[in-house]
Amino acid sequence: MKDANMEWLEGRGPERRCPACHATQETERVLKIRSALPPREELTLERCAACGSAFFADFKEPAYETVWGGDAALSFYQEQGAGIDVMLASLYAVPHQGIERFLEIGCGFGFSVDFASKILGWKAHGIDPGPAARLGRELLGSSIDATYLSLDNADEREAVDLMLASEVIEHIADPDPFLAVLAAHLTGNGTVLLTTPNADAVRPETSPATLAPLLSAGYHVVLYSPKGLEAALRRAGFAGVVVADWGHSLRAAASHGTCDADFTRPLDRTAYREYLARIAASAEAGSALSLGMHGRLLKELVNAGDYDACEDTIAAVRATLASRWGLDFDAPETMPLDGPLPGSLDDLYRIHPFNLATLLYMTGTLALARNRDEEAHARFAAAAKASDRVRAVLRAIGSDDGETEELGWRARVYATAFDARKSPDEAPAALERLAVGADPLGERMPEPLLAKLRRDVFIGLVGEGHHMAAERVAPRIEASDLTEDERGVSLGFALGILELNHRNSPKRAMNHFAGARERLDRMADGGPHETGSFVWAVRYHEGMAALRARERSRGKTAMEPLLTPDAAYGTPDPAVAEDALKIARDYGLAR
Ligand SMILES: [Zn+2]
Repeated sequence: MKDANMEWLEGRGPERRCPACHATQETERVLKIRSALPPREELTLERCAACGSAFFADFKEPAYETVWGGDAALSFYQEQGAGIDVMLASLYAVPHQGIERFLEIGCGFGFSVDFASKILGWKAHGIDPGPAARLGRELLGSSIDATYLSLDNADEREAVDLMLASEVIEHIADPDPFLAVLAAHLTGNGTVLLTTPNADAVRPETSPATLAPLLSAGYHVVLYSPKGLEAALRRAGFAGVVVADWGHSLRAAASHGTCDADFTRPLDRTAYREYLARIAASAEAGSALSLGMHGRLLKELVNAGDYDACEDTIAAVRATLASRWGLDFDAPETMPLDGPLPGSLDDLYRIHPFNLATLLYMTGTLALARNRDEEAHARFAAAAKASDRVRAVLRAIGSDDGETEELGWRARVYATAFDARKSPDEAPAALERLAVGADPLGERMPEPLLAKLRRDVFIGLVGEGHHMAAERVAPRIEASDLTEDERGVSLGFALGILELNHRNSPKRAMNHFAGARERLDRMADGGPHETGSFVWAVRYHEGMAALRARERSRGKTAMEPLLTPDAAYGTPDPAVAEDALKIARDYGLAR
């Protein structure tokens, strides 16, 4: 990640007490980063050598109720930023029977509280003094108090069976008083659920869109390792503690008695879909809340392959884009997504919504599934641009969005593969731009995606006879490891064809074809080939290349099952067998 606002560090820091595990020793320096909050001071993240938790030692807590406000920021949250399914998934970690009262600390807009009340039927409350909570209370009608929970009011409140503090504890410099308050408000057999960023994910190889929100410099103070979070929960007196490593985040549960939380229990997606549909229908038409819920619903339906059910949602989105932004959702190529990147959330929001990349990507997937390739291409190409624009304005405020990043790259993969079929001569340069990071954000496409795209484009170029263009892609392909999967077979075959027909190197061609044939034979595992006619094309080309390379006996071996059918190997494709016979006659192998 090239970022002027951030620099990775090495070496030892001063001796400090770790807020997570309380070990006192020299820290390990991790990185320097500018705070997203004015006056944008430089902050240093240090790691505890004992437990691996990381913390901004010189951090000053901002007054929570003043941060991350602004109308556009709240619209971003409703339309795209809120990972509602991820939040709700935590609620399914514990069995629901016996749960009557639910409390969420730092509930933000209040989607989980609202879901718990409307769908799960719990007596659900939220506590949050921030601007998102005020708006959520108004729009969703959930029960949210604009206050802080403290030990002083522990007696006034009824203890709850389930408590959630999602993405809260990382904002607090000392976890102990906070966890003591949670413990005091929990029933004897209740459970408190926590989610928080995982300190183990703070590594140079983590993608920028994941790392930025995880660090949230200026907002987050302590990033916990699994070990550090468990230590803090034990210190708060919880007897039952479960901490699950969820990649970039941690999910934890704690109880006064034994804790039977299991974070692998899945979210009930039917209930989630029901909730999205309900809010989408009840929210004011055209509002950020309505558009956000329609966008999430569209994603659910497309990912479930429930394409016919998408029509009403698409109609609602189409109407909102037209009435609020004058955009034609059916003509993504006419959307004003080119030109300089917008400079602020407000600038962007005047032109299009924050979930435009998601809306376009999901309808692109739908078009692809219905074989409407031209439409899919237009949608994916526009989705990639919309992704860049949204990420550009988020980065300007020290944030980013992992989902928008991922959809953007996947859209770019589809769009580039499509362009390569239309304009093969331009494909090599397009691939190179992705490799060096020439997109508007200056990022390189993640290597696994790029490697797959490059292989697919190369195979397509060779297959369509665009050998000059294929030749320009080939060096990167030849420098990469060929995998053992089926793509390895297609790729080996394409490399063989290029060597044979374009480079005039029959011997190297023979070796590529032989490699492809060996892989196919391994896949057939001694039985007859069920891979269609491909194995016969491979054998024919291997034999022909061998004969041209004056490797007569290898040519004969390769052609053998074509010339003398062997039931154990399968019946050859008659057309290929005929061609093979001609070549064999030319070289005196058959009469
Ligand atoms: Zn520690």
